[in-house]
Amino acid sequence: MQINKMKFGKIKKVLLGAGLSSLLAASMSSQAHTPMNKVPNFDEFSEWVHDWEKFDTLYANEALDVLDMHLHPGSYDKLGPKGKEFVKSVFPIDLPDSLKIPLLRFFSSFQLNPYGAFIGIKNECRRAAANNCILFATYAPETWGIEPNEDLLGYLDDDRNTFNDMPFFYGLASINVADWDRDKVSNLSNLEAALSHPRIVGIKLAFAHTLTPFDDPRYFDIYKLAQKYNKPVYHHVGTSPLRKVSEFEEDQLPFVMRTFDPMYLEEAVKQFPQVKFILGHAGNDANHEGYSKIEEVFYLAEKYENAYIEISALGSERNDPNGEIMDGVLKRAKNSNILNKVIYGSDGPGSPGKTKSYKELVLESMQRVDLSFDEAQQVMAGNARRIFGIPAPSQN
Ligand SMILES: [Zn+2]
Repeated sequence: MQINKMKFGKIKKVLLGAGLSSLLAASMSSQAHTPMNKVPNFDEFSEWVHDWEKFDTLYANEALDVLDMHLHPGSYDKLGPKGKEFVKSVFPIDLPDSLKIPLLRFFSSFQLNPYGAFIGIKNECRRAAANNCILFATYAPETWGIEPNEDLLGYLDDDRNTFNDMPFFYGLASINVADWDRDKVSNLSNLEAALSHPRIVGIKLAFAHTLTPFDDPRYFDIYKLAQKYNKPVYHHVGTSPLRKVSEFEEDQLPFVMRTFDPMYLEEAVKQFPQVKFILGHAGNDANHEGYSKIEEVFYLAEKYENAYIEISALGSERNDPNGEIMDGVLKRAKNSNILNKVIYGSDGPGSPGKTKSYKELVLESMQRVDLSFDEAQQVMAGNARRIFGIPAPSQN
């Protein structure tokens, strides 16, 4: 297929005509929590969002600064086998793989590309009025695949990584934990090299995806590096949308729990009081199997100064249609006085337009539980700027 050589106008037509992009997009989101029930109007997606275009987020009639800490770059080819199977299985049209795969490849090259035209991550972040976004590296070879630190550093060093003359993207580096005993020295040094980059602001780990136990001290070397470089550690907490607990045998359960239940992280949180641990998705029950770990996440965040909560995936249309889970999390954080430890992220890009619409759902939840402007501002950007050391944008 000579698809790469098509002109942009034609590409737009293809997107419109096929109506596929949305579905693919939904399927490529890391939580896959954004199935599309309607096809977006692609006329709304300009090729590039320019710096001079102004997008505001109003809360209580004041303009909010927004920093989205959770975006996944990638491509179809970098997905792991489970991820590839998954996106093929949700492909809307019954086509042979020989046609499906090039189409998936084509759409992901726009959508999961930080600098992709129309629906690329930077365009989507800017339309969501985010002043900065954080991109994740990923090493989950079986599931979502590998987005290596080297590629992440390339995005951060790209000339297009600017917004009003400041960097737009920052990054969380990651580390391959497969074959740990054999490869740990070289993998730790790869992580260390990434951590020396000025725009790498933390470490991202997904033990539910890699089936790595939180309480296995062999992995604590990662926290030693976090401490040395003073970088927060983001852990995916709660089950993986690609590995249902019900797929495991009964006798494997005790092991699997150690990969997603944050109680098994307590020892690390205690042993490394100088390392900030960000508990991702607030322990959300990704597959609605009765394994919500929100209670445990609050236990840690209320007890330990260095435990933080990130709220992506909660409150999404699929996961939490009335926003009750999100309301509960925000209300509880307010009542227990830990809103200064709650951090916004979208887990995007999701389907086109989703980075923005997810943010709007979160703001609606904040309004329902009566957060003040200052409280909302802490969650939407202030806390992340403080703990990652990301400067606020200049006001123009
Ligand atoms: Zn994610």
